[in-house]
Amino acid sequence: MLDDLPPLRETLAAAGISAKKSFGQHFLLDLNITRKIARLAGVSAGETVIEVGPGPGGLTRALLETGAHVVAVEKDPRFVPLLEDLGAHAPGQLRILNEDALTAALPPGAPIVANLPYNVGTPLLIGWLIGALRPGSMTLMFQKEVADRIVAAPGSKDYGRLSVLAQAICDARIVMDLPARAFTPPPKVASAVVHLTPRLDRPSDEIVERLQRLTAAAFGQRRKMLRSSLKPLGGEALCTAVGIEPTLRAEDVPVAKFLAMAAALNAT
Ligand code: SAM
Repeated sequence: MLDDLPPLRETLAAAGISAKKSFGQHFLLDLNITRKIARLAGVSAGETVIEVGPGPGGLTRALLETGAHVVAVEKDPRFVPLLEDLGAHAPGQLRILNEDALTAALPPGAPIVANLPYNVGTPLLIGWLIGALRPGSMTLMFQKEVADRIVAAPGSKDYGRLSVLAQAICDARIVMDLPARAFTPPPKVASAVVHLTPRLDRPSDEIVERLQRLTAAAFGQRRKMLRSSLKPLGGEALCTAVGIEPTLRAEDVPVAKFLAMAAALNAT
């Protein structure tokens, strides 16, 4: 059973696998940490969970321990034998896809739990926010700077396109901070886990598409006033329609006002 498995550090050493930078590989080998992430994700027995980038399987092991069924998508084929061995200790619970998570067909509606590779973390998140997969929740490790941008409030330097898109679609909060030394090998920066749950009042796909156009224009020239940065989309009239000053800058506009502008976009 899972308890019979050797420590991850031994498994990795025995397989002779060293981390590849191009795949953003920084491993969590401490099961106390991966168990905490599984707990924060709120995963329960019998549920199907997607894990992206299982690598040597530290988080996978913690997820399997909860009794969940795990669909694990790993691009690096070197980890497949290790993951198969892990699956043999939890019969029927682990499905391994040796694919790229950016293009793999994943089960819709399932929660996603992942210690994401830094190089594709943001595009993966955006795809899950706006795409057809509609994950039940997302519990994702990012570099701290990206986590801060996801949860940022208006008026802060971190507030931008990613904050507006993520917070319009999900409730998002940082649930765990981890120093670089928690990873093997340690990355250059600290990390944080963000827990995202879909909002009950999730905007329609059409509003999300308009929101993306608006935030691209507004934050593309973030030092400019909205009447100027949003000029091609209706500028002053759009601001007036939703009751905000056209002299504001993008970073001072709350998510709800961006949503109101998206709703008013064609009417102005
Ligand atoms: N989950 C493991 C852990 O916590 O120890 C590994 C995390 S490591 C930060 C990121 C993992 O994602 C690596 O195993 C890497 O090979 C994998 N990976 C990188 N790009 C990927 C992609 N496009 N699709 C699927 N897996 C990917």
